[in-house]
Amino acid sequence: MAIPVWIPLETARQLFFDFLEVMPSEPVSLEQAGGRVLAEDIYAEDDLPPFNRSLLDGYAFWAEDARRATGECPRWLRILEEVPAGQWPKYPLLSGTATKILTGAPIPEGANAVVRFEDVLLEGDKVGINEPFLPESNISRAGEEIKKGECGLHKGTVITPGAAGMLASLGCIKPRVFRQPRVSIISTGDELVEIYQPLTPGKIRNSNLYFLMEAVREGGGVPLNLGTAPDEPEMLGEKLELALEQADLVITTGGASDGDYDIVKDTFQKIGAKILFWKIAIRPGTAAVGAVRDKKVLLGLSGNPGAASITFELLARPLIRYLGGWEQLYRPTVEGIIIEPFSKKSPRRRILRAIAFWKDNLWQVKLAGKQNPGILRSLITCNALLDIPAGTGPLERGSRVKIIILGEWGGQ
Ligand code: AMP
Ligand code: MG
Repeated sequence: MAIPVWIPLETARQLFFDFLEVMPSEPVSLEQAGGRVLAEDIYAEDDLPPFNRSLLDGYAFWAEDARRATGECPRWLRILEEVPAGQWPKYPLLSGTATKILTGAPIPEGANAVVRFEDVLLEGDKVGINEPFLPESNISRAGEEIKKGECGLHKGTVITPGAAGMLASLGCIKPRVFRQPRVSIISTGDELVEIYQPLTPGKIRNSNLYFLMEAVREGGGVPLNLGTAPDEPEMLGEKLELALEQADLVITTGGASDGDYDIVKDTFQKIGAKILFWKIAIRPGTAAVGAVRDKKVLLGLSGNPGAASITFELLARPLIRYLGGWEQLYRPTVEGIIIEPFSKKSPRRRILRAIAFWKDNLWQVKLAGKQNPGILRSLITCNALLDIPAGTGPLERGSRVKIIILGEWGGQ
């Protein structure tokens, strides 16, 4: 069957999703679980909060006692005891009595309201209340947040700071999370030198490796550096075998196009991978080869840093998240305006590296420097991508654009 070429980005994603399975799960200690994805539903073994407790420092009493209380004629109640947080009340509360109570302390039996200590009168062992209170005032009831037996966190929940706090409240010390996909990175190209080697004529430093390691980590994967392969199929083939053994997803950079030394597609085929597509209808980032072998992804990206970064962001990152059990595969997208013109010449779908900011009640964007596929620098401040549909002509200042928000860095 002929290899699909020039396919839409969304089709490329789907071709991979059809083959992939979410990673198995593993337990991790809660301290290490931040940013991971829950692989199980977590049920409450107790009510949360576990007992009725006071929301403030004051006096617990029976609301009915103060039904007719006024400033002129306060209702005086005898103080039974003081209950600080962490202690259990000794005495049940009867009509005509009150218990001094501190924030977070258990409400004594018989009490159904708490008055703030600033709002009472005190005389000897008596507390005076000078207005009526509704039952339940300033009380947090057991199970108010989550009832015993209820599901507190669902499978697929990302362990945000809030989720970590909730897991702690539920006593979940080792939640099961999806394993993070391991991503092997192979750099290809005879022109590459390692960053610790001197630059000799015709050579460049391997920047894609370092870009990709960070991007993989940010996306929720574990990067593995498989080193550099020259533009030579045998050696690339050997590296790919090694990479497939170690990882769930293999990314190469360089040699993904159709030049004389562009060996990636043929080498994928040689090692028995099924090619899903070649070339995606976006610019930059067109040169990309997608393949699978044994349910593992092989993705050949362009060597051009700008192009590789865009194909990584729009294609590889959602795959990493799919494998890692994320429900949210994509970044948030908003609509806004571009504050400078852009002379879009080709009618193809264009992805632009941009700086987005919220100003005058509107998302606004400007370009993050040069946009050629080979440019790396634009990625330093870029916090957004603009997705300009195929068929669109040059953009005028103020044109409406679709903005993919990448992060909070960037600047005006
Ligand atoms: P290729 O995709 O192999 O045609 O390479 C396109 C451009 O990207 C060429 O100018 C390469 O020198 C450059 N390039 C390839 N690999 C890397 C890399 N790992 N880091 C930085 N630039 C690269
Ligand atoms: Mg090359």
